[in-house]
Amino acid sequence: MGENIPDEVMKNPALVKELADVAKDEALLQGVLMRIQESPNSSELVTYAPFTLFPSPVPKAVFLQALEVQTHFNTLVDKISQDSDFLQEALANTIEVDDFTARLFRIHQQILEEGRSQIVLGLNRSDYMLDQRQDGTSALKQIEINTFAASFGGLSSRTPDVHRHILKVAGRPEESRQILDNNPAAGLARAVAKAWELYGSERWEPRSIPQMKNSCYQNIPTIRKRFDDVCGSGSLDQDKRLFVDGKEVAVVYFRNGYMPQNYTSEECWDARLMMERSRAVKCPDISTHLAGTKKVQQVLARPGVLEKFFPDQPEAVKQIRATFAGLYTLDMVGGEGDQTVEMALAAPDRYVLKPQREGGGNNIYGAEIRQVLEGLKDATQRTAYILMDKINPAPVQNYLLRQGGPLTLSNCLSELGAFGAYVRHGADMIMNECVGHLLRTKSSEHSDGGVAAGVAVLDNPLLI
Ligand code: ADP
Ligand code: MG
Ligand code: MG
Repeated sequence: MGENIPDEVMKNPALVKELADVAKDEALLQGVLMRIQESPNSSELVTYAPFTLFPSPVPKAVFLQALEVQTHFNTLVDKISQDSDFLQEALANTIEVDDFTARLFRIHQQILEEGRSQIVLGLNRSDYMLDQRQDGTSALKQIEINTFAASFGGLSSRTPDVHRHILKVAGRPEESRQILDNNPAAGLARAVAKAWELYGSERWEPRSIPQMKNSCYQNIPTIRKRFDDVCGSGSLDQDKRLFVDGKEVAVVYFRNGYMPQNYTSEECWDARLMMERSRAVKCPDISTHLAGTKKVQQVLARPGVLEKFFPDQPEAVKQIRATFAGLYTLDMVGGEGDQTVEMALAAPDRYVLKPQREGGGNNIYGAEIRQVLEGLKDATQRTAYILMDKINPAPVQNYLLRQGGPLTLSNCLSELGAFGAYVRHGADMIMNECVGHLLRTKSSEHSDGGVAAGVAVLDNPLLI
């Protein structure tokens, strides 16, 4: 199988072994690297980041569809983040029962009262699976959109050369040309640099701004800090400018803070609040963070909601809606939510039950859906979750290469992501782009989990 990779390659153990060795070598050469689990903060020991031996086939039409709809998703996320009434209504029941979302929401409310920054920087990734249709074609269906710390923009720019090399060594130079260049990191960085530049232009008199050339961006100083460090070394001045270690901060990029475990103390929450209150550009700001919750995703799928955000753009509504899978509310005890429960209990294998969490490994599948829904003490507890149709992509055979792992042929499922980047200054959208893609592939034995969760590996689409 493997569509474009013939069995004589896929199922030739000696060749596969040789290719895997070549592949790992090439990964090191191209910088497809990660630190090892035993010493995650040390650069002394590194290994190749996990990846597939072969690229996976993706139909060109659905691939392009994902890239094309991305600017509409950027606009949508941005509009949601500005619509506090919508967020309030969408999350009202969720925050009654989910403490983490409630805490984020309280920060959001405080920021609304105090006023928000004019400059908005959005970097996100909309993820999809290709749902198999009866007629053999596949439909692009959104799994979720990540508005917080959407990762692999860097590594995914380096994997195309690895797969090209493997295919050449395997004697498939034609296929090697079917692998696209990809450089999300460059586009994401461009957006960060724009936000930085705008912060500077608001900060200083126009006359004194140095002319910014692209090469200047390389000189933007960056610092990496943990929440608890920021709590100690950060402060706001009377104009709410953020200073860390005595230096003024223009842009805060949150790499962390999307999981409750990221806030190990009250000081971490204090640091988050301080950064949110500051004039610095936040990526994401608190309202964009909330716009990326799974509850908001479910509300967007309700009739008429997209139309509200795009009153004059029926084409955008159509393109976005085409990617929605069935999403169902668990709110409304005695009403709609009861029907959702009934539906899920009757055929749990057709659905995924999702809490308001990120980072992989949190969703509930199959028989466990029944257990969880039946085990909830009272019905309102269920509003911490949403229910979603399970997407069923066609499995493709491949080898997953990870340090110390076996070299076995697996049935694999892929997830395609499109990276979005936008910058808004007041009412002006200054940048709104799709800046690249990501393909991740996992063994079909696993229902859940991404690369960081140790389940999926990096891949490249082989357009067919
Ligand atoms: P997270 O924010 O934790 O990444 P996701 O919604 O992306 O949450 O779910 C994690 C993983 O679970 C996905 O990468 C995908 O493999 C699987 N998954 C999620 N939703 C579905 C679905 N509707 N159908 C099939 N698999 C799904
Ligand atoms: Mg996510
Ligand atoms: Mg995900």
